[in-house]
Amino acid sequence: MRRKVVAGNWKMNMNLSGTIELISAIKNELNKSDSKTEVIVCPPFTSLETAVTVLKGTSIKVGAQNMHYESDGAFTGEISADMLKSVGCEYVILGHSERRTIFGETDDIINMKVKKALSSGLKPIFCVGETLEERESNLTEKVVESQVKNGLSGISEHELSDLIIAYEPVWAIGTGKTASPEQAQEVHKFIRNLISKLYSDNLSENLVIQYGGSVKPDNAVELFSQPDIDGGLIGGASLKTDSFVSIVNS
Ligand code: PEP
Repeated sequence: MRRKVVAGNWKMNMNLSGTIELISAIKNELNKSDSKTEVIVCPPFTSLETAVTVLKGTSIKVGAQNMHYESDGAFTGEISADMLKSVGCEYVILGHSERRTIFGETDDIINMKVKKALSSGLKPIFCVGETLEERESNLTEKVVESQVKNGLSGISEHELSDLIIAYEPVWAIGTGKTASPEQAQEVHKFIRNLISKLYSDNLSENLVIQYGGSVKPDNAVELFSQPDIDGGLIGGASLKTDSFVSIVNS
């Protein structure tokens, strides 16, 4: 059976003291739970090292929200894979729709980042998803297929065993509108079949595909019980201990 993974994408929220408070509370609450779900928290860069320290000795993992595809050099304001590794990060979110739309990241840039993360020993949470306009024009599968193919271009099956895909319909991110369990399951199944065609049944069956987009305690159970949904990438609801822990326990 595939593992379930719930990751919290904090976006540009929480300073250092807020990070310590939230992570300590999540840690304490999850201590009381017997959930087998893998949990990842993705705070801003400035909180990563502290998050790793606070979570030492627990099974909760730390991820970054972005990184650059080059190893080092004149890239003012950027952070490299090696820097993330050096503070104890295990995961990195790549291709989030906010990176694609606000910061102009293309499939090619995301592909370079995914390659760099994997070759550096970081596990990418690779995000794909269609806009509302694309869904209403019946382009969901076409868009998701091209994001998956381009984002993973030139990457071998062997390297992909450490990658998670997050299906995040752009129209559901931070909007309070969630894809119905059936809508989400349909796209997850499509992605799993695509991975099977591009790589193998084995990779496709073992690949963790998270759903993201306004997941809340009251819709998580139904979403996560779909056969091809293996947990979630959580934005807003990951900033409150109660809602995040309740989603993990879903
Ligand atoms: C996200 O940022 O990845 C996300 C899914 O946000 P929200 O849960 O707030 O929709």
